[in-house]
Amino acid sequence: MSKHRPDRRDHADEVACVRCLEVQDQMFLDRMLWCDGCCLSARNRAGWWGWLGGWIFGLGLAAYIWVFIRPTSLVIGGWFGTVAMGIWLGAKG
Ligand SMILES: [Zn+2]
Repeated sequence: MSKHRPDRRDHADEVACVRCLEVQDQMFLDRMLWCDGCCLSARNRAGWWGWLGGWIFGLGLAAYIWVFIRPTSLVIGGWFGTVAMGIWLGAKG
């Protein structure tokens, strides 16, 4: 009764996350040897970059419309919808 841990939890199963170098049980690391926290932060950052790319795309589209098409105030609502759609598609892509 001196062993508190099961046998499989020896050092062979402990691997350092390649991102934060924190030693974790291998079953908590994914195929790239990233721990849960690193996977989560990377996924959040990817989503954030997706939104940023969408906004840059949308602002570029708005600037293009503003400079080259010069919409009147009557149709600007429609163009705003187009830009919003561009941001949405950019963020998803
Ligand atoms: Zn990590």
